[in-house]
Amino acid sequence: MILWRPYTQMQSSSPPILLDSAKGSFLYTKNGRKIFDGISSWWLITHGHGQEDIVEAIAKQAEKLEQVVFSNFTHEPAEELSELLESFLPKDLSSLFLSDNGSTAVEVAMKMAYQFAIQTGKPKKSKFVAFTHSYHGDTCGVMSVSATSAFNKPYKGMLFEVLRADQGTSMTDPLSQWVHSFKKIMEAQGNEVCAVLLEPLIQGAGGMIQWPIEAIQQIYDIAKSHDCLVIFDEVMTGFGRTGTMFAFEQIKRTPDLLCLSKGITGGFLPLGATIASKEIYTAFLSHDVDKMLFHGHSYTGNALSCAAACANLKLFKKINFIQIISKMANAHRESLKNISNHPLIQKSNVCGSIATINLNHSNKYGNSISREIQKMALQLNLFIRPLGNTIYLMPPYCSTPEEITTAWSKLNTILNSNIELFSELEELN
Ligand SMILES: *Cc1c(COP(=O)(O)O)cnc(C)c1O
Repeated sequence: MILWRPYTQMQSSSPPILLDSAKGSFLYTKNGRKIFDGISSWWLITHGHGQEDIVEAIAKQAEKLEQVVFSNFTHEPAEELSELLESFLPKDLSSLFLSDNGSTAVEVAMKMAYQFAIQTGKPKKSKFVAFTHSYHGDTCGVMSVSATSAFNKPYKGMLFEVLRADQGTSMTDPLSQWVHSFKKIMEAQGNEVCAVLLEPLIQGAGGMIQWPIEAIQQIYDIAKSHDCLVIFDEVMTGFGRTGTMFAFEQIKRTPDLLCLSKGITGGFLPLGATIASKEIYTAFLSHDVDKMLFHGHSYTGNALSCAAACANLKLFKKINFIQIISKMANAHRESLKNISNHPLIQKSNVCGSIATINLNHSNKYGNSISREIQKMALQLNLFIRPLGNTIYLMPPYCSTPEEITTAWSKLNTILNSNIELFSELEELN
């Protein structure tokens, strides 16, 4: 049987590389290559591949209990996970709903927001506002609120209508631009909006676009003044990625609904989490069965995933991750100093463990220059996946400054040795 791979044109892409193992920041192939995991395996790995505490926690849990119907039972890993998450979050974010991945974590938040409006006597508030470069996942609900892009274009007819705040592309006045369009929508239709969704601090798949913090603060305050819930999708930004445990800490605003996944288990097992405010949770309490949240997945509350998440979170308590990630940011900044004035580079940016360069060429997803750069990097044992013209590194937290510097110098070499090739390819783009 053919293994149909995600986000892959199966006809033209090169065959996948057979891996044997992974440890720390490196992937080891069956035939003896050692490849630097420059993107934490799609933004999942936190402390490092094969982290021993997490390996042990999963193994131990597997011997006791793997899975049970979470509507009727609970278990220590789930109880402990809710306590651990609580210790990292503001008091008001007080109820935890588990699912399987980032898309479901966001989709659950949307269903909660929608039903919350109905059950608090505001049925007219049935629409969502989302931003033009957002990405919230791949199932139909979250594809609807994601940016209209190559990712969801073929499925346009399956998606529902969403109010789209245009964040524009102006670099001269990004603050007012990001806020302006949202404000206009809310002034015109605020009474129809149940929630606004956004990826705080940095939009991931949209191209690692960093928001001005003040813009998010203003958007939050405008939403609140229109009785509109705020959903922060921290599926990518959560668990230290931007320098704090959660990105919203830097924004100094607490969302009504917080969506987590990816780094939650350290990258070991699938798990999604939707964390709701007390007010939202309370609106679902009733003698009436029909007022419950009608959502659940077969694997909800999987004990192995919960055990992995607990071990991952305990590591965050044990280590000084803020310092570790700040050292990563410094290594990124030092490296970018040497390359950011390169003629092919338009701009560069660092946000915690994430560093980005934007090249001058076409921003089309899967364009030939980015594909070429990805291929050349892999030949140098560096694994990256550019997004349009955005090349970024987001390595696991165990990466040393030397490893980060080496990765950037490989990219620098690629850019320096291929200026002519890239300009030829750009003409063909
Ligand atoms: C990856 C991602 C998702 C979707 O998560 P999956 O686990 O791939 O379904 C949702 N939101 C954001 C911000 C993401 O980066």
